[in-house]
Amino acid sequence: MFRLFGRLAVVAVAAVVLLAALPSAPRELPPPGEGLKTPVRGVIHVHTNRSDGTAPVDDVLRAAGRAGLQFVIVTDHGDATRAPDLPDYRNGVLYIDGAEISTRNGHIVALGLSKAPYPLAGEARDVVEDIHRLGGIAIAAHPGSPKPELRWTDWDTPLDGLEWLNADSEWRDEQAWTLARALVTYPFRPPQALALLLDRPEPILRQWDALTQQHRVSAVAASDAHARIGVRSFGEPYDSAGSRHFPSYTNSFREFSIALSDTTLTGTADTDARRVIDAIRGGHVYSTIDALGGPAALRFVASSGSRTVSMGDGLPVAGPIHLHVDAQAPNDATITLFRDGASVATARGSRLDHDAPEAPGAYRVEIGLPGAPGMPPVPWVLGNPLYIGRNVDNPINPPHVAPRNFMTLYDNGPLRGWRIEKSAASDAAMDMIGALGGTQLLLRFAISGTEADSPYVGFVMPATAAIAMYERLVFTARADRPMRLSVQLRSSGGEGERWRRSVYIDSMPRTVDVAFNDFRPVDSTSTPRPELAKIDSILFVVDTINNKLGSNGQIQVDDIRYAR
Ligand SMILES: [Zn+2]
Ligand SMILES: [Zn+2]
Repeated sequence: MFRLFGRLAVVAVAAVVLLAALPSAPRELPPPGEGLKTPVRGVIHVHTNRSDGTAPVDDVLRAAGRAGLQFVIVTDHGDATRAPDLPDYRNGVLYIDGAEISTRNGHIVALGLSKAPYPLAGEARDVVEDIHRLGGIAIAAHPGSPKPELRWTDWDTPLDGLEWLNADSEWRDEQAWTLARALVTYPFRPPQALALLLDRPEPILRQWDALTQQHRVSAVAASDAHARIGVRSFGEPYDSAGSRHFPSYTNSFREFSIALSDTTLTGTADTDARRVIDAIRGGHVYSTIDALGGPAALRFVASSGSRTVSMGDGLPVAGPIHLHVDAQAPNDATITLFRDGASVATARGSRLDHDAPEAPGAYRVEIGLPGAPGMPPVPWVLGNPLYIGRNVDNPINPPHVAPRNFMTLYDNGPLRGWRIEKSAASDAAMDMIGALGGTQLLLRFAISGTEADSPYVGFVMPATAAIAMYERLVFTARADRPMRLSVQLRSSGGEGERWRRSVYIDSMPRTVDVAFNDFRPVDSTSTPRPELAKIDSILFVVDTINNKLGSNGQIQVDDIRYAR
């Protein structure tokens, strides 16, 4: 008898604990008000079984359809040398194929680019430059990852976007009890249980608010869905001990999504993929935590003088500024308007109006719901800025200042002191060839096809002491195909410390102009900038960072000069 009571009591206590732990059901939203329409929604940053996800593309798209989404942006790990799949409607969901590229400074989600002619890798600034050259956009992935090797470390690179929220990073920094609560309640309210792991990521938002004072940077919430979790290490998708299909793609896709504010889809995959990517590039996108309530419609417009623009756009200041927000939000929602990261107005419910004097800034909106998870609570809706009196263009090509003083190192004639350095199984040759008005250097290379060889070829030119009086290295170059060449400075003595700057060259002859200050150490032990007084060699290196094993080719170089 007592034993039975005892068991019942345990069950009752368990039920009470579960009920208390159960996250709230999603909020019912009022119908969209005037001028609001249900947005086009989808997810960005999804892995399939082509990389470390668990399902083929078609299954992932089916899961998105079940979650009520219109598009999925798949970003399997890669170096962009695989031709992306063409945009396609499958099971009624638009499939967009992108890539997640590993760089020395973190992962980049690349969208809308054509097949790369060589592996994209190395420093983030070079990969972003290549993504832009190939017509794509670059989004910093999981910039706030608690894992240092996954964290973004280069905020000077001209990014088009960043992930303000990344589901894969979010759970990593949670307390054990929050994780336990999410696991226990997942079978009952899966998307809501997953949302328990979200927070308002303050450092990333601060970083973003700083970037948007320079140019447009679009923030998106990224699923980073793999639909797997490690068995032994709890959560490592790469756990060798095996993994479980948890959380499912469908439940991840029901947790949160990105919504396009001014975009309609036509049903033609090509056109629509372009529209989705353009909307992200243009900041016409906001994020909603659908597990808390959704899908939510948002409109954010501003006017000054006779012009009115919406979220993502730039607006010149031409008199007092009026900002207006309409949201499909319940009465107890709080709309907060930020200017350059500082809160300037709040309102309860579904509307906010704010008159500002002629104060330029990046203005953006967050909407909070009472009871949202996280410390501090994750915003339910997060919009992109309106850039008022601010530059929106990404400075892909920073202004170039032509040097005035030169010292020529090579123009014509014999190669005094030049030599070749290479890995054992690689080949290289240097020749002078006739060119208009003199000679040119012809550098031929064949890097070995064996990984164990650590293949590389280096053409080494002696540096003169005068280097310390200059700021840049300038030369003309062309190659027989698109490639990256690593220009390096090496110091005298010992092993010789090296600093490098990777440059793009192809069959169009071009002037390459690299500032010594932009060189970065090859080894992490080096000083962050080259010590010019100690430099005794300048190297033109072909290695396997951006060249496939076993590749060969030739480069013509001329007019090598110091400049300032
Ligand atoms: Zn990643
Ligand atoms: Zn990823």
